Amino acid sequence: MLNIFVEANCNRYVRDECTYCHVYEPLMQIDRSQWHLLPAQAQVMADKIRQIDLFNQLAQQEINFTGGEPSQNPHLVEIFHIFRKISPNVRLHTNLDIQSNTHSRWLRLVDIMKLGGRVDFTLYPTVWEKHQKPLLQEILGLQNELIVNMIFEQVPDLVTQIETMKQFFGEQGAKFHPTLTLLEKHRERIEQLLNEKPECTEAEFNNAMADIESYTTAGGFTFGVNMILGFYVDEHGQRAMVSQPFPKDVNTLECTIPRGTIEIMTVQQTGEMTPCCDVGNLKCQPKFGNLLTDSPDEIMRQIEISRQKMITGTAKNLQNIKNGQPGTPVEEGIPPYCV
Ligand code: SF4
Repeated sequence: MLNIFVEANCNRYVRDECTYCHVYEPLMQIDRSQWHLLPAQAQVMADKIRQIDLFNQLAQQEINFTGGEPSQNPHLVEIFHIFRKISPNVRLHTNLDIQSNTHSRWLRLVDIMKLGGRVDFTLYPTVWEKHQKPLLQEILGLQNELIVNMIFEQVPDLVTQIETMKQFFGEQGAKFHPTLTLLEKHRERIEQLLNEKPECTEAEFNNAMADIESYTTAGGFTFGVNMILGFYVDEHGQRAMVSQPFPKDVNTLECTIPRGTIEIMTVQQTGEMTPCCDVGNLKCQPKFGNLLTDSPDEIMRQIEISRQKMITGTAKNLQNIKNGQPGTPVEEGIPPYCV
């Protein structure tokens, strides 16, 4: 998958979530004049993706627009057309915090859904009833797929969010019964875990959820649940070693680079890239190239140089975690939680 930042503005600044938002610090540094990715830049990126085999393969799987809030970009539909020419599967992720169905941001999303793109969203309980719910209802009439991201700061938050989704899909008719069943399985399992282990560890949580499917394709509607850990992020934009729901457990990220594969490439608006889900707050120092300014050869050269650093750096991180010294910086410049 290629994750492409198309917009730095998230339209939710100065709201309550900002201080915990993992993209706030990296994106707030982008000058207002450069908030929107431009079609000309998108074209440069698309041309470069075509020329690099590895990127081309990732694009065939999926190109995902993110940010910031993609619907804030006035050129979004044009950018969609550009990337749609190089990928059969272009999606975007929205906060769906949009005031009405006449707003230009919503109309852009409608255009994209009508053109065959898919829209996924993150549930924000504070704006669910007023903004998200009525538009989600319209989304169900425009596409037959949906992924819902649920960010949780405590495990019980998940139960609340699942209940919100259950109530919503319970009102949508028989087509969504498999979706309801999937949500109910998640709720049951989490409640059972909380009853048995109210202070469960991350490993216990993962074990409890291990055999539950995150997707269902039954009934002509594909639905997926993505449960995402919340992290504290410091004033320099660096995330904590531990997540909010599991503050006693070191949270590690399995870097695929030392394992010899690249499954995802995240492209910042500046063209800078990281071969993982980094949105700018991981502060990975080894360079992976710039999709706007570097040649394909230069990009591949930088990935290879960085691969060596990942191999030695992740081994040191693992050792530091085993020795009870998580967070110790390593000279390779990779984040301390990457193993
Ligand atoms: S070391 Fe960490 S931040 Fe760097 S590419 Fe790997 S997973 Fe991403």
